[in-house]
Amino acid sequence: MASLDDIPVTELKGVGSALAEKLARLGISSLQDLLFHLPHRYEDRTRIIPMGSLRVGDVAVVEGEVMKSDLVMGRRRSLQVTLKDSSGFLVLRFFHFNAAQKNQLSEGTQVRCFGEVRPGRAGYEFYHPEYQTNPPPMPTGEQATLTPVYPLTEGIQQPRVRGLCQQALGYLQRHPIRDWLPAELLAGYQLPGINEAVQMVHSPPASAPVHLLMEGRHPAQQRLVMEELLAHQLSMLQVREQIQARQALSLLPTGDLAERFLEELPFALTGAQRQVVSEIRQDLSQPLPMLRLVQGDVGSGKTVVAALAAIQTLGAGAQVALMAPTEILAEQHYQNFKGWLEPLGIQLAWLSGKVKGKARKEALEAVHTGAASVIIGTHALFQDDVLFHRLALVIVDEQHRFGVHQRLALREKGVGGTLAPHQLIMTATPIPRTLAMSAYADLDTSVIDELPPGRKPIETIVIPDSRRDDVIERVRSACADGRQAYWVCTLIEESEALQCQAAEVTAQELTERLTGLKVGLVHGRLKSSEKAEVMERFKQGELDLLVATTVIEVGVDVPNASLIIIENPERLGLAQLHQLRGRVGRGEQASFCVLMYHPPLSANGKARLQALRDSQDGFVIAEKDLEIRGPGEVLGTRQTGMMQFRLADFERDKGWIEPVREMAPGLMRQPQLVQALIRRWMGEKMRYGDV
Ligand code: ADP
Ligand code: MG
Repeated sequence: MASLDDIPVTELKGVGSALAEKLARLGISSLQDLLFHLPHRYEDRTRIIPMGSLRVGDVAVVEGEVMKSDLVMGRRRSLQVTLKDSSGFLVLRFFHFNAAQKNQLSEGTQVRCFGEVRPGRAGYEFYHPEYQTNPPPMPTGEQATLTPVYPLTEGIQQPRVRGLCQQALGYLQRHPIRDWLPAELLAGYQLPGINEAVQMVHSPPASAPVHLLMEGRHPAQQRLVMEELLAHQLSMLQVREQIQARQALSLLPTGDLAERFLEELPFALTGAQRQVVSEIRQDLSQPLPMLRLVQGDVGSGKTVVAALAAIQTLGAGAQVALMAPTEILAEQHYQNFKGWLEPLGIQLAWLSGKVKGKARKEALEAVHTGAASVIIGTHALFQDDVLFHRLALVIVDEQHRFGVHQRLALREKGVGGTLAPHQLIMTATPIPRTLAMSAYADLDTSVIDELPPGRKPIETIVIPDSRRDDVIERVRSACADGRQAYWVCTLIEESEALQCQAAEVTAQELTERLTGLKVGLVHGRLKSSEKAEVMERFKQGELDLLVATTVIEVGVDVPNASLIIIENPERLGLAQLHQLRGRVGRGEQASFCVLMYHPPLSANGKARLQALRDSQDGFVIAEKDLEIRGPGEVLGTRQTGMMQFRLADFERDKGWIEPVREMAPGLMRQPQLVQALIRRWMGEKMRYGDV
């Protein structure tokens, strides 16, 4: 018997090649794809809601009598129809209407309509509702079902998709969907089988509990949510298997180089650093590629940990590549590593998109021959023409946009193209546990959960920009005391050009007002050599104040800087603000962070800035951020589609994360199941690598 996955949508009535093409844009080509195109919400059109109980934003059916009907001239001509029922009244507003409609909606007519409540001049209003005059009785019993609402693409309307899904349901009897989940497991959670679940979500009967369905908590929905999260988890584990199907160089620690490095270091490692170093040391000595994520709050000292991993690799005579997301950060790592490693006789190479011509040729040559054994740069490191001599370790710093497929691609870069390099991913954006379990299921995790001793807490101050003058004075007095400050200009992120411009204007203004202070400026449009020069002067204390865009967000380390002003913090995410704040509080002196917002603040904006003021624990802040903005924003992957689910909602369904993670490894032993579930839920995405 043909499986639903083998029956093309063109089998259905009314689906020709044009519609099939549009459906393909939604990732739908078979009947099974169609049935897994799930409603993301429902409209309750089964009950008439009393007008008096409506709230703004409600989507509801109401019914009443036309009290009056007026043509309103105003800025835009509109037809304003006032309806009343026994509980209150409601205005229907039409900007486009014809004479027939106007006549139809005359005084005394009975009208039933469906729309969304908006606040209006004359009370609550529906704009252009779907309506029916002198309606038949409401459907009851069998016919009174919730109306599913589907994700759409251009050129396909809701009723069309609804109709197609209903048609496809008709095939379920003769071509049931294979249920891959063991019956005991489903029974344990009191979840229905797959066919029952699919039937329920597309076509809930009148008797189904409305509130559960509306909230996505019905067992049928939860069954699908669980399967979706499981498919996601399996796909991540599969990536891990694919990487670890390769061998890696086993890098046995020799100790000698590491000892010399640690002796030169002006401080002792914290307990947490030592712990993570030993986890990495263990991984690297295996002939299996390491896949490890190191999480540590801003300033927890991840760089030395990375350096020790590099040193173990160098000790075994192999190469290390270190990639950072921005030029500034990569440059800073280059300077640090150079300072640490050159005295030990190690040669380094520098590669970024801006290294061109002869310099680039020389760098490539040194990497290829193995003359350079540590290569530091931006993502330019992994362009096709970069050939490594004996690459055994890749360190990726502060880069959570670095997705599974990029990790998969790194496989090919190792020694001889057959040995995969070890991978060490470092992030200072602490990731809530549940999110890490999902987004990084293919990685082992280490956490540096201790800050170096002697750090003073950063005092965070939230004030409106009407007090700009006071803030400028504060900068003056901090710098007069020999300390340094950052002034961060933010604008809507999409426009880097405007952001740079704003920073230029601010730098100009501050230079004029803060006579006697030396003011520097960095932004994304400077040449990398210019950026590096300004950063170096700031680091050396030649500049008192550094005006910057958010390019300094990650990693930049200047311990003498103890004051940071962030303009318009309400525009940034919590994690990003926490990162920026982490630029200070790195030295001995008390540090301050001034969040200078532009009033009025929304309630949400206020809550977010307060959360930041009240906590300095990156993990606490990350949890808040996840609650407020969702996983795509927290991971910085909203645009990539990573962590975007069809049905699962990270907040609502986080209770599933742990059980799913526990059941996945066992299921990995059934390759057919793994393939089928990944295909069912991730479809083309996995094939094209944009997960
Ligand atoms: P992050 O984890 O944010 O990348 P860094 O590696 O930049 O942090 O370290 C922050 C600062 O702390 C640096 O100046 C670094 O030299 C210093 N540092 C790191 N480890 C220790 C330690 N164990 N004791 C004292 N200072 C340390
Ligand atoms: Mg860092």
